[in-house]
Amino acid sequence: MDHTEKYDIEKIRADFPVLEQKVYNNKPLIYLDNGATTQKPLRVIRVVNRYHSELNSSIHRGVHFLSDQATNAYEKARETVRNFINAEKKEEIIFTSGTTGSINMLAFSFGEQFLEEGDEIIISEMEHHANIVPWQMLCERKKTKLKVIPFDDNGVLDLEVYENRITDKTKLISVTHISNTLGTVNPVREMIRIAHKNGIPVMIDAAQSIQHTEIDVQELDCDFLVFSGHKVYGPTGIGVFYGKEKWLELLPPYQGGGDMVDIVTFEKTTYNELPFKFEAGTTNYIGAIGMAAALEYISEIGMKKIAAYESDLLEYALQKLDHSGGITIYGLAPEKASILSFLIDGIHMLDAGMIFDKMGVAVRIGSHCAQPVMQHFNIDGTLRASVSFYNTKQEIDYLCKAIQQVKTMFT
Ligand code: PLP
Repeated sequence: MDHTEKYDIEKIRADFPVLEQKVYNNKPLIYLDNGATTQKPLRVIRVVNRYHSELNSSIHRGVHFLSDQATNAYEKARETVRNFINAEKKEEIIFTSGTTGSINMLAFSFGEQFLEEGDEIIISEMEHHANIVPWQMLCERKKTKLKVIPFDDNGVLDLEVYENRITDKTKLISVTHISNTLGTVNPVREMIRIAHKNGIPVMIDAAQSIQHTEIDVQELDCDFLVFSGHKVYGPTGIGVFYGKEKWLELLPPYQGGGDMVDIVTFEKTTYNELPFKFEAGTTNYIGAIGMAAALEYISEIGMKKIAAYESDLLEYALQKLDHSGGITIYGLAPEKASILSFLIDGIHMLDAGMIFDKMGVAVRIGSHCAQPVMQHFNIDGTLRASVSFYNTKQEIDYLCKAIQQVKTMFT
């Protein structure tokens, strides 16, 4: 559908077949679990289907028609990603299995090349486990140290502490752009500036920002940036690792296998050029093509329009939740994305979640793979409603109705 004109929510929703679903006794599905994964527009579904049914063939290796078509589409997808995040070169875009795959790749590769015993890596207190555990594993391997930037009770990082944490042992900073739990939009531009002033590279976890805000890696000046296809309306099992060429040239490959090599003998193997050096084995080429279709789709709608619409929905939701009363919201940073973590006072999240589910409202319950955030607030977890550009104010109203229903039943 053509989305080049005004923001037409009905038209947008019609692009997502899953949103038409009815669940339990014909209840409309209210999908507010977009932080976990996003739904797929028809454009993506059709492209993935078409490549499986008409053009499936192993890329980079065949000389026949299908292989040629699939290879071209895969490399075109790389160009689409490059353009979407405004990377300088196509060679700086590596396809991975997702954010987790990308971070593990950096932790291994950067760790092998640059870290020695006693060196330090800085992350923040609001990271997803995917941006904690790979670094801890590296610390165990290399006897390096993990340092943490704390956040205050509104979910705002303390930049003064951040600056003080940096020492001449600090080798890398790895922070989330937007917290998957608190919704905080971190001042990554400023954090990168501070890091670079000290000669330290920065990795940005864009798993929760790529779908909400325009990202320009050259303007941000980040050294690495990672995200997942499934959180930006694309397929699962595909993701992106962006790295400045100067770093990628220095880093050793993460995995060995087909396609990442130049010459292989039993004595020695030389590696392929960028980006293939980091893409061992048969990659998820159809996933990459599907993800590119998703990026094209949201680009046509316009990231600015998406951000403005979601910001309006967030404000509406915050007001409505405030009026509901008896609700504690976790994460009230002034710069906040449309992710709402909350608890209904005196009611266990599982009880609330169960009623929500029966009413057709899909939210996430638990620690959202960010246990340190829960430890900060001394809670077990939260309910999390994460809102996308296809959600509506009526759906927020319905969420509030579900909250009232829970309160009626449990108090
Ligand atoms: N980082 C953040 C901020 C996330 O929200 C997530 C997923 O929720 C991840 C990393 C991990 O993403 P994936 O499971 O797609 O690898």
